[in-house]
Amino acid sequence: MSSSNQATRQVHERAVESLREQGYRLTPQRLLILSVVAESGGHMGVDQVFRLAKEAYPYMDIATVYRTLHLLKKLNVVTEVAIGDRLHYELTDPEGRHHHMVCQICSGAFNLSPHYLEQFRHTLMQEFNFEPDLEHFTITGVCSTCQGQPAKG
Ligand SMILES: [Zn+2]
Ligand SMILES: [Zn+2]
Repeated sequence: MSSSNQATRQVHERAVESLREQGYRLTPQRLLILSVVAESGGHMGVDQVFRLAKEAYPYMDIATVYRTLHLLKKLNVVTEVAIGDRLHYELTDPEGRHHHMVCQICSGAFNLSPHYLEQFRHTLMQEFNFEPDLEHFTITGVCSTCQGQPAKG
């Protein structure tokens, strides 16, 4: 978490800026929801965002959380990721998109840099003349913790 703190702060500031530029009011509730997602440094379900936002502001309601996440998504501040059968939210990656590896046991989501899929994309295009849309590509499996083994490499 600490290594990405600065990057997270920058994304957060850029997000606030982009809201402002596009003429959206920075209501305290919007800022709070944005902060919750920014500070998590990962992928959060709506219920998680709601719970944390409500801890900070007891009058928060879930409709506001949905509306705000939808707005942030529209502004490309936040990215929506399908993990299992639920939608998660994360700050839009400033270094471009990443893919996800999702654990079928703990539902943890792990980032996968797109370069791992470059060869795969290339193969599909070369051999099948098929241009894949890998934007929402997610690989399911079992994470190192759930395998009870230390991660390799
Ligand atoms: Zn797991
Ligand atoms: Zn992600």
